[in-house]
Amino acid sequence: MLVHDAIFPIRGKHDLGQSDTNNFGGSRGHGGQDMFAACGTPLVAERPGVVQFEATQDRAGNYVVLQDATGQSYAYVHMRDRALVKKGARVQAGQRIGYVGETGRASGCHLHFEMWTAPGWYSGGDAVDPLPELRRWDSFS
Ligand SMILES: [Zn+2]
Repeated sequence: MLVHDAIFPIRGKHDLGQSDTNNFGGSRGHGGQDMFAACGTPLVAERPGVVQFEATQDRAGNYVVLQDATGQSYAYVHMRDRALVKKGARVQAGQRIGYVGETGRASGCHLHFEMWTAPGWYSGGDAVDPLPELRRWDSFS
């Protein structure tokens, strides 16, 4: 049996790394990876952890931030509804946490996904390019 360290966060048809504007960095200082998928496509925790933040905001729309045991965190932004998990809750890899949406400043249904080094999202960590990890997870899940 193969054991992997993470599960791809979007459980349905999606794109990945299709254009520079969807990717991390670039002239507009994009802080994550945009992955387009139909609104309502389930989103799951990509690895076990704890809900670090869960809220709704003008630009981000409905978002949730998960933190793993190493202190790295992972943000899911523009979700259709408020997350299915609340701040402080434990999540298992593959647990459903919400659905793809286009809330906040988003055009088109997509997941904006961020990865931050410990101690996490806007808590002293740094945003890093999640694309290599996402490609790896996508290859086996
Ligand atoms: Zn984005």
